[in-house]
Amino acid sequence: MKVLKFGGTSVGSAQRMKDVAKLITDGEQKIVVLSAMSGTTNTLVEISDYLYKKNPEGANEVINRLERKYRQHIDELYSSAEFKAKGRELIKSHFDYIRSFTKDLFTLFEEKVILSQGELISTGMMNYYLQEQGVKSVLLPALEFMRTDKNAEPDPVYIKEKLQSQLELHLGADLYITQGFICRNAYGEVDNLQRGGSDYTASLIGAAVGASEIQIWTDIDGMHNNDPREVDKTEAVRSLHFEEAAELAYFGAKILHPTCVQPAKYANIPVRLLNTMDPTAPGTLISNDTEKDKIKAVAAKDNITAIKIKSGRMLLAYGFLRKVFEIFESYQTSIDMICTSEVGVSVTVDNTKHLNEILDDLKKYGTVTVDKDMCIICIVGDLDWENIGFEQLALDALQGIPVRMISYGGSNYNISFLIKKEDKKRALQQLSNKLFNGK
Ligand code: ASP
Ligand code: MG
Repeated sequence: MKVLKFGGTSVGSAQRMKDVAKLITDGEQKIVVLSAMSGTTNTLVEISDYLYKKNPEGANEVINRLERKYRQHIDELYSSAEFKAKGRELIKSHFDYIRSFTKDLFTLFEEKVILSQGELISTGMMNYYLQEQGVKSVLLPALEFMRTDKNAEPDPVYIKEKLQSQLELHLGADLYITQGFICRNAYGEVDNLQRGGSDYTASLIGAAVGASEIQIWTDIDGMHNNDPREVDKTEAVRSLHFEEAAELAYFGAKILHPTCVQPAKYANIPVRLLNTMDPTAPGTLISNDTEKDKIKAVAAKDNITAIKIKSGRMLLAYGFLRKVFEIFESYQTSIDMICTSEVGVSVTVDNTKHLNEILDDLKKYGTVTVDKDMCIICIVGDLDWENIGFEQLALDALQGIPVRMISYGGSNYNISFLIKKEDKKRALQQLSNKLFNGK
């Protein structure tokens, strides 16, 4: 069985939903994971914001506006009076529920419930649409099987068992429609897998049912070899290793959520990135096979801060790095890049919430300097160290651009450069020219 996930834009209007319905009704039984219609989760966040600020009027205005939009979607989506009525009832019940939170104390718990409504609505709408078309479609309630443990990590054993029993309730169905993003936590409360988490849902479900393939449908024809917003002449990459995809997703390729890679990789289930606007395009296949000896793509991550700790004490000392890392750990700040020399260490972070405290603590161990507004350029491919020449290619491509840090050898799949943000566009273009366009 295949698992197909459609993102917010792919279900962003009644017409788009109809297009998706066509794509998924080819006679093959499958599980379909949907995001909320585009813009909805952001609007639900905005509603929650008003409620945190104890402004129910503000919240109600946004709720009413969103509800009006959905009523229009309903009118456009269904053709029969019966399903128009069902659709209206669906919308009304969810919006009445959202409204009920404007009257009471508002906490994180209520916010999570509000945030879950987007996916509950989109899947409900799609399920009715499919039924109107005569398809045997059923809803699999994600809140009955998708669950995180005490560390807020998905619980694969629970997920597998509960999903199986949900599937067994409807053995003859053509299509199983379910919500991305939403789950319950270890205490049974409504929760979610973090923003953009629908990809993660699809991957977890794929692993749980031993799917033959997980398809992530968006509105671009796969993962590109560079950022199309920054660079001309980018191309879709046809195949990637899971590790390459993880590096790219983490370092800025917006098309796939980084958490999505792990469950599929462990279960050895290929992930295919496909385009709803061009459904027959081949997209990108992510698997445990890789094309050898090849640089596949370049990605960039902005808003990076570099911190250098220089210390005479590092010379021949042990335990220095531990002390440095402990400081970052105590402020729950993760490090992206690291470079060391015998007299100092440089690291980068993208979360600067506790930067001042971190710098204060680091000053106990050495002289600290900070470079803000930096950017990590990450080159991804099969970069095993015994492959000769790719480092030189990358460095040649970056000619004329000052490089603050270089990191290679952490994995076989990535070489990273830290540069100034203002040099990013130029660096990405030069890399595309050299690595992919043969200039
Ligand atoms: N609807 C959620 C969000 O906007 C989850 C997702 O789309 O993946 O973050
Ligand atoms: Mg998304």
